[in-house]
Amino acid sequence: MLVQGIRGGERLSEEQFLARLKAIYQIIRQSKTLEVALETVGEGLLDILGVRLFTVYQCVENGKELLAIYRGGDAEYNSSSEIRVHFSATSVAGYVALSQRSILINDVNDTSELVDIHPRLQFDRRFSDERGWPIKPMIAVPIKDEVMLGVLQLINFEGDPSFDSSDLKRAAFVSQMLARQFRESLQSNGGPFDQLVKQGSLSSRDLADAQANASLRGASVSSVLMDNYSLSAEAIGKSLAHHYRVPFMAYDPALILPLRLLENISKGYLRKNLWLPVAGDKNEAVILIDDPSNHQRIMEIQGVLNARNYVFRVGLPEHIHLFLRDDSPPESSTSFEDLFSVLASQSKAAQPERLDDEDHGSETSGMIQLVNRVIAEADRLGASDIHIEPSREGAPGSVRIRVDGLCRQLLVIPEEHCAAAIARVKVISRLNIAERRLPQDGKCKLKLADRHIEMRVATLPTVHGESVVMRLLTPGSPMQLETLSLSVANQREIMTIATQPHGLFLVVGPTGSGKTTTLHAVLSKLNTPERKIWTAEDPVEITQDGLQQVQVQSKINFTFAMAMRAFLRADPDVILIGEMRDKETANIGIEASLTGHLVLSTLHTNSAPETITRLLDLGLDPINFSDALLGVLAQRLMRTLCANCKQAYEPGESERLRLLEWYGEEDFVNHGLETRQWTLCKAVGCSECGGTGYKGRMAIHEMLVCGSRLRGLIYRRASLDELRHQAAQDGMRTMRQDGIEKILSGHSDYSQLIQVVGVAID
Ligand SMILES: [Zn+2]
Repeated sequence: MLVQGIRGGERLSEEQFLARLKAIYQIIRQSKTLEVALETVGEGLLDILGVRLFTVYQCVENGKELLAIYRGGDAEYNSSSEIRVHFSATSVAGYVALSQRSILINDVNDTSELVDIHPRLQFDRRFSDERGWPIKPMIAVPIKDEVMLGVLQLINFEGDPSFDSSDLKRAAFVSQMLARQFRESLQSNGGPFDQLVKQGSLSSRDLADAQANASLRGASVSSVLMDNYSLSAEAIGKSLAHHYRVPFMAYDPALILPLRLLENISKGYLRKNLWLPVAGDKNEAVILIDDPSNHQRIMEIQGVLNARNYVFRVGLPEHIHLFLRDDSPPESSTSFEDLFSVLASQSKAAQPERLDDEDHGSETSGMIQLVNRVIAEADRLGASDIHIEPSREGAPGSVRIRVDGLCRQLLVIPEEHCAAAIARVKVISRLNIAERRLPQDGKCKLKLADRHIEMRVATLPTVHGESVVMRLLTPGSPMQLETLSLSVANQREIMTIATQPHGLFLVVGPTGSGKTTTLHAVLSKLNTPERKIWTAEDPVEITQDGLQQVQVQSKINFTFAMAMRAFLRADPDVILIGEMRDKETANIGIEASLTGHLVLSTLHTNSAPETITRLLDLGLDPINFSDALLGVLAQRLMRTLCANCKQAYEPGESERLRLLEWYGEEDFVNHGLETRQWTLCKAVGCSECGGTGYKGRMAIHEMLVCGSRLRGLIYRRASLDELRHQAAQDGMRTMRQDGIEKILSGHSDYSQLIQVVGVAID
């Protein structure tokens, strides 16, 4: 078939468009099914959108596939064959479903334009070829509310008008309208346990009770159904399989898990997120998950595993925990008490003559074991530092560890062993054993069981004797951007910025707020053979193959500024500069970003807008700076509730209002958040979290994107208030708002957010 003339008609004005869309919406509301409705309004939609073709896809197979339920403008092919598209980055619709972002493509035949969006994105030319239509511009937008429901794709031919941002906006309007209809047709489909009611295993009253009971106890609905209603796992599994339309998989003790896929993923993380790979390889991974319709988690899984294809199975949370239970024997079964009694007997046997002058010759096997045990235990608990501290004479010393930013006592160490333990640490770190009056620092590497542990060691003389601190250096593979707890919008903004060919992107926050982790996650996205990446860091904590990483050394005057100048002579595409701590470094960074390089760096500032005023105060040229700046991400780490023991509850009115007010009620509504029905979680305490109720940390963010208005404000050195106001207008959510959203999703609580953002900071 030949292309007939350019799709005609004048472009509708905004009012005309909305008026006609409203009329279409009325028709859809009155139709029995969405399919029937689309038949009726198909031509009208083509017309108001000004496109040749459009396709409406609906998510099926729960997060695995899109099914085309209607194709406008393609009548002769409409009934011919079913079009199914996998959720994957290799097709336009599949990519939109996966990333949940809208895309506008000027020419789908231009491979470089597709690769810019995603390295694996392709356009299936068969579609175009079969029909003899040269397809050119395309828009695809997600149809979603809280979850992904489908994709709307608009297509024009060569010779037709191209698309611009106003078309994208109109497509978004139509997709919102469709989302409402999708939601209604889905709701009649019921919940995951409804099949049990339909088959008469349970009354609907019982099910409602069980669900309420589960949410009250913070337990899973399936566990309540098994415990209180004597339903079998198989019966529940059948209902889940029916609802999610993927097979149910029960716990099987004989199953051998695919170790290659589990490499580098901690079981704690999987237990918390309730999924695991149960079979397959990097080509096709089989994932067991309790909710295969949860797109947020599925995207995260894809980020973590990075397999080519995924197959899903649904399982009970209890069964997933069974698969993930830790059955490996502990590092050493000897308890600390046993070790101390060994030490006591050994020191009796050795009976050192001069207690005040032990050298490492008096080191016993018991002491070696004790120190190894302390390090292994600290490593197992995820500690960042170990402190071995003497106390006043006659009192025992102590070993404390820092976990998630807070110190806690690991053990009390009898006075007579404290100095010996510190001496042992000095031996393995190759420090001068005899020197106890001056501070020393060194490094050591240990192999305990299968783990290689690297530590930086510092000793300091106190009035009660030497004290030692060991920092455990977590050997560095980068984390994935998808696992950094970024909101969907922030992640999208970062990816947009990171794929710019030049400009400046800053990650800011206090020491220990995870800035390096974030930057390396961004770099891992950019780390492809086509890009030359130089980094200057102090210290190099995370290493990645493919990067050229340089350790700066201020002792010999090898500074960030000097490294930066050297990089510019070394043909870079992307440069990471550890910190923009002075005017010279900042100036070279801006110069580099204006001369065609993408520059990433960090700064110690409290908020994203404040970063701008800080740099201007440093004396940067506002014209160059405003041209260079792409965006600023501010972040902090907030402790999270222990996933094992946290308890869900419904907040009272005063608590609800406090959070609402703290967020800003107007923003709350504008950001589309649910104002009434909340389920929050609170700390309880169990053995997994040392009784504290908290385990692990999660970042909260504030993402400022430097748009044209902000650029203008920077140019004329506007005040912090003006910058902040404009950033909010441009859609920035403050760290506090991001934190409140994370409280609302049950990851943390009010007390923890206050600790990181304080009450007064805006
Ligand atoms: Zn706990």
